[in-house]
Amino acid sequence: MPLVVQKYGGTSVGSVERIKAVADRVRRSAAGGDRIVVVVSAMAGETDRLFALAGQLGAHPNPRETDVLVSTGEQVSAALLAIRLQALGLPAVSLLASQLRLTTDSNHGRARIKSIDVRRVLQALEDGNIVVAAGYQGVDSLGNITTLGRGASDLSAVALAAALRAHRCEICTDVEGVFTADPNICPPARKLSRISYDEMLELAGLGAKVLQARSVELAKRFKVPVVVRSSFTDAPGTWVGEEDKAMEDVLVSGVTLDRNQSKITLTGVEDRPGLAAKIFGPIAKAGIVVDMIIQNASAEGRTDLTFTVSRGDLLRALELVKEVAAQIGAGGVRYEEQVAKVSVVGCGMRSHAGVAARMFEVLAREGINIEMIATSEIKISSVVNIKYGELAVRVLHDALVGNCGAGSYKEER
Ligand code: ASP
Ligand code: MG
Repeated sequence: MPLVVQKYGGTSVGSVERIKAVADRVRRSAAGGDRIVVVVSAMAGETDRLFALAGQLGAHPNPRETDVLVSTGEQVSAALLAIRLQALGLPAVSLLASQLRLTTDSNHGRARIKSIDVRRVLQALEDGNIVVAAGYQGVDSLGNITTLGRGASDLSAVALAAALRAHRCEICTDVEGVFTADPNICPPARKLSRISYDEMLELAGLGAKVLQARSVELAKRFKVPVVVRSSFTDAPGTWVGEEDKAMEDVLVSGVTLDRNQSKITLTGVEDRPGLAAKIFGPIAKAGIVVDMIIQNASAEGRTDLTFTVSRGDLLRALELVKEVAAQIGAGGVRYEEQVAKVSVVGCGMRSHAGVAARMFEVLAREGINIEMIATSEIKISSVVNIKYGELAVRVLHDALVGNCGAGSYKEER
């Protein structure tokens, strides 16, 4: 009998009615012959509520106690779902991280999984149970409760699927799968039937919320077949898996918009070795991720350096950069609080040239100025003025993905 891990997110278990619906769905899968391990998130809003409670009692709540607190959301939903399954006459057992022996390091709030001892899960399945595991939580070698980071019940699910060598890991959520763009911005966007791990990783890194990035990394490492699908319908969803020939033929799988970027420019920086290190060293040390960097050609030995950070890091980054600017005698510091980063992602770019040129052409045709560019093997990002962000997504989607079924932009030979 195939073993399937099904993860249900916060919205899917957000009320008693929804938990009943999830239980019905699990029952149908079980009736179809699958052995099932369910992983649940906390009920929608619960984790935020718990964090807020802690915040009311202390400005910097202790990380260990915070984990004891915020991990309870998943304990509640696991128990509720097990109760409902039993009420339907299905043997079920909830298991917390300590019972799953999902051990992590002691990094509270963002612990990394070290191992999972699946014997207890296998025994429970053997005894005919549906296992309902609490996501998001772990336990360190001393038995302290840890959590794996926000959104990490996806990671719990993939990790369990890997450890159990599950047939597949279903991420059941409030959307029908992974889309070529956000349908709220770009109505012709369509659901992808398949996408590669690498593309999904890029999309998750660009803010697509359907899958947590670390869970995709883990799925890739252990080759776990993942399917993202709706909790509310039986629509087939999007498969995330290894790249194949057909995927390579599709140049662009997705177009994304990130509105949470800020741009900082350091003007009049002396053009000599070591200065970039001086500037970015302190920023890196502060744990701030710098995404794009450009350095202008220097004029009279001075150059401008521009880079982006996420908006939440802007103030801290500015403080640090102003300090360095004073030290190195730079001309000044300018910033723009909100810029848009539009990106196109597709593994076909590995083997086909010309996508970047096409992207720039399309933006130029609309009169959208490109302020910065960054590329990876399968991604091209451009920073544009925030007011053109949505327009950029629509025109790029139209030109590079199109709305013609499987077809997408093919290199013109
Ligand atoms: N409940 C946790 C959170 O809100 C984990 C999750 O939902 O994946 O971040
Ligand atoms: Mg989630």
